[in-house]
Amino acid sequence: MAQEPMLPGHWYNIVPDLTTPPPPPLHPATGQPVGPDDLAPLFPMELIGQEVSGERFIEIPQDVLDVYRLWRPTPLIRAHRLEKALGTPARIYYKYEGVSPAGSHKPNTAVPQAYYNKREGVRRLTTETGAGQWGSALAFACAQFGLECEIWMVRASYDQKPYRRSLMRVYGAAVHASPSPLTSAGSKILTEHPDSTGSLGIAISEAVEVAGAAADTRYALGSVLNHVLLHQTVIGEEALKQMPEMPDLVIGCTGGGSNFAGLAFPFMRESPRTSYRAVEPEACPSFTRGRYAYDFGDTAGFTPLLKMHTLGHDFVPDPIHAGGLRYHGMSPLLSHMYELGLFEAVTRSQSECFEAGVRFARTEGIVPAPEPTHALAETIAEALRCKESGEEKVLLTALCGHGHFDLGAYDRYLAGELEDYALPQERVDQALANLPHSG
Ligand SMILES: *Cc1c(COP(=O)(O)O)cnc(C)c1O
Repeated sequence: MAQEPMLPGHWYNIVPDLTTPPPPPLHPATGQPVGPDDLAPLFPMELIGQEVSGERFIEIPQDVLDVYRLWRPTPLIRAHRLEKALGTPARIYYKYEGVSPAGSHKPNTAVPQAYYNKREGVRRLTTETGAGQWGSALAFACAQFGLECEIWMVRASYDQKPYRRSLMRVYGAAVHASPSPLTSAGSKILTEHPDSTGSLGIAISEAVEVAGAAADTRYALGSVLNHVLLHQTVIGEEALKQMPEMPDLVIGCTGGGSNFAGLAFPFMRESPRTSYRAVEPEACPSFTRGRYAYDFGDTAGFTPLLKMHTLGHDFVPDPIHAGGLRYHGMSPLLSHMYELGLFEAVTRSQSECFEAGVRFARTEGIVPAPEPTHALAETIAEALRCKESGEEKVLLTALCGHGHFDLGAYDRYLAGELEDYALPQERVDQALANLPHSG
């Protein structure tokens, strides 16, 4: 079969191109690096191999490309109308991942994860979901490969976004509000905090607990880990071929870091003069106010210890609408690269993000998901700085999902009811006081 010229044949692993590798995950009991055997109850061997791979390029299997082809390559669009409305000399491009079946970049990794699990004889996948984008991506991918899918959805989103729930069920998944009484991790939280709005950290504990207890079940994670960032580089590989000029600045929002890394890494390889900027919510600022330390990836402490920028594993962020950015930690690979000075990070408040989202919708026509409005707010601010200085910068941003399931949040913004959540230092200090000790 002829392959579309824009569809890349490989993913890009940036690790061998770094001056030093990121610190390894540690076993919480021994303080030693975790080995493949420690991870085997949770992940298939192929993904464990990709997690620690030293290969620069990893071939995308044909069966995965066949599913990617349903929506890839995704469009790379010049935002002429936004530029004109801003009166900026900057040239703004965006790579739009909202054309995927689930409406975000998440299927880029959900599809290979489901594929490798199926190939290794797994029957069921469990996972958590924040805003519901990852859950719907994995539910879609499991339907493609005939796997069962069971999802713990953060309570705040479960209540705010009933149609994301419906979408997961249409794809055939079972969906539970987290914390749930179905697991010991969930029950424990419910006993202490019956009104808990949940967090990604709690939902991960529940999904990991269930996967760890069943031989035919594995767990899938939608962000943070190296193999997830690897799969997302399909975004940047396409964008490299589509961009008519190299960007001066690449801007992306960061929850666990995968859409930002996916767009940025291939440009880091090909364009040394480009700068990179991660944007996170004021209410959950892992890079800018977290500590670079070993911490658990989940609330109950079931996962290996990851060296990352963290707000503490029991930090529960305020229920902002960008549910995909409500995570206490950050990708260990990106955290390491941040320490190496390879990109910068800034924060944006919820109201300035929605303002940017509405501005974008009224000029470019696409209603962005609340998460990428963080990148858009920063892109607009940069374009306005260019207007003042007269600089003709080339900006490239990751528009990683549409907001069609987030119209309730837009309604609240338009009605003037949206809150900004300042994050007092005591809350950060309190959560950081519970960091685990490590070797
Ligand atoms: C999940 C998600 C995010 C946050 O995750 P990253 O790994 O940082 O990309 C951001 N935007 C959208 C649309 C998402 O679905």
